[in-house]
Amino acid sequence: MLGILGGTFDPVHFGHLRPALDIQQVLGLEEVRLIPCHIPPHRPQPVADAPLRVAMLEAAIRNYPEFRIDRRELERDGPSWTFDTLMSLRAELGTVSLSLLIGLDAFHDLPTWHRWHELINLCHMVVMTRPGSEIHPEGELEDFVNRHRVMDPAELEKHAVGRVLFQNVTQLEISATRIRTLLAHGENAGFLVPEAVLEIIRREHLYQARTLQ
Ligand code: ATP
Repeated sequence: MLGILGGTFDPVHFGHLRPALDIQQVLGLEEVRLIPCHIPPHRPQPVADAPLRVAMLEAAIRNYPEFRIDRRELERDGPSWTFDTLMSLRAELGTVSLSLLIGLDAFHDLPTWHRWHELINLCHMVVMTRPGSEIHPEGELEDFVNRHRVMDPAELEKHAVGRVLFQNVTQLEISATRIRTLLAHGENAGFLVPEAVLEIIRREHLYQARTLQ
């Protein structure tokens, strides 16, 4: 069983890592792949370039062999459609149970995703609840949840795709936006990101006011 968590990771923080570890433990995943996204030139760019975002991820997971970085979106030109990522993972992995980890806020936007109806034929979705958020799918998304929701995590092992699980994770009100803002104001982002990530941020002078776009 494999889990994947996509994101900008600009920078990676404990709000990504702890919930992903919670899910890994609850589901007994063999591996969680962190998939940093490529941002096409016409979209707002991450502040840190791709090699630095990867370097921060590498530093963050150094002592966690159950985490791995998957660079496939960075190696692909054009937008990082989750659909394409799942297709390419499937081509490699065959019928293994694959869970897409997704924050509740991102899940509410699912109907705006490219070919979103087809995603559930390629993976399970594990929705990580975030502080202050409530599950309130509406319209198409509500139908989707009603059709695919399971309450028992064990269901995800029995099947390769097609289930949606809402999983309680450690509630950490941390966002990369807040970290960038703190750093731009010259404040300390300690205990929000791993120390090794903070070291890279300091060394590379990332997220200082003059480098913010
Ligand atoms: P930004 O503030 O730059 O938008 P972010 O902190 O939300 O970034 P992303 O890299 O965009 O981080 O997030 C990747 C995934 O991790 C998304 O599915 C998002 O919902 C989830 N996520 C981010 N922060 C948390 C958190 N504190 N708790 C649970 N899930 C989170």
